[in-house]
Amino acid sequence: YNRIEGSVAVECRAGTENRIRISVSDTGEGLCAEKLAQLFQPFNRLGQETSAEEGTGIGLVVTKRLVEYMGGIIGVESTVGTGSVFWIELLAASMPHAQIVADKIAALALTAADLRNHEGIPVHTVLYVEDNPANLKLVEQLIARRRDIRLLNADNGQMGVEMARAFQPEVILMDINLPGISGIDALKILREDAATAHIPVVAVSANAIPRDIAIGLEAGFFRYLTKPIRVNEFLDTLDAALKLAEKKS
Ligand code: MN
Repeated sequence: YNRIEGSVAVECRAGTENRIRISVSDTGEGLCAEKLAQLFQPFNRLGQETSAEEGTGIGLVVTKRLVEYMGGIIGVESTVGTGSVFWIELLAASMPHAQIVADKIAALALTAADLRNHEGIPVHTVLYVEDNPANLKLVEQLIARRRDIRLLNADNGQMGVEMARAFQPEVILMDINLPGISGIDALKILREDAATAHIPVVAVSANAIPRDIAIGLEAGFFRYLTKPIRVNEFLDTLDAALKLAEKKS
């Protein structure tokens, strides 16, 4: 419904209350107040029924419903003879993944210098890649007793790989079922990167059937622990992995 050689501009900027506003403005005829009031009525084409432009009059109705289902809002401003601006506002989503990783690494980097040392005592850094907060909590509690171990956590495989590169932990504990890449895929990436290939990676997984364990060990995990985590087995394995890391360094 623009005019010949008219233009359309699509714009995106911050909207109200943590929303992003996307506006589409045209240089069409514009709409008077009376037509604006009927805009979101289904099958109402506001007098365009007889125009050459084909249509049914449901596009805006469907758009409004979709936007509202997504917690957004839709609106329009129009000036007769100048054009209309249709806009939607949607809730801003969290930052893209890469930015979260960069921020997390930047935040932790403030303490990276201390990672090997705490009040003069050498500290081992262990990275736990785990998306389940309950499992993380348990491992945190188990490791809290160990003053010589500092635990870092990544809640997905990609972040785990990036944190491993950034912090060079002595040992990595790796869940298998993770959002995004699996623990096995993450292990492959770690193995192929000279910066992380030497780090022993212990699988900690709920996949407990022998075939899963065989696949895991084949993939190159140092050990394969199954959940629920058994405290003694866990701590013994951790010590064995730390000892191996020490030998390699
Ligand atoms: Mn998981």
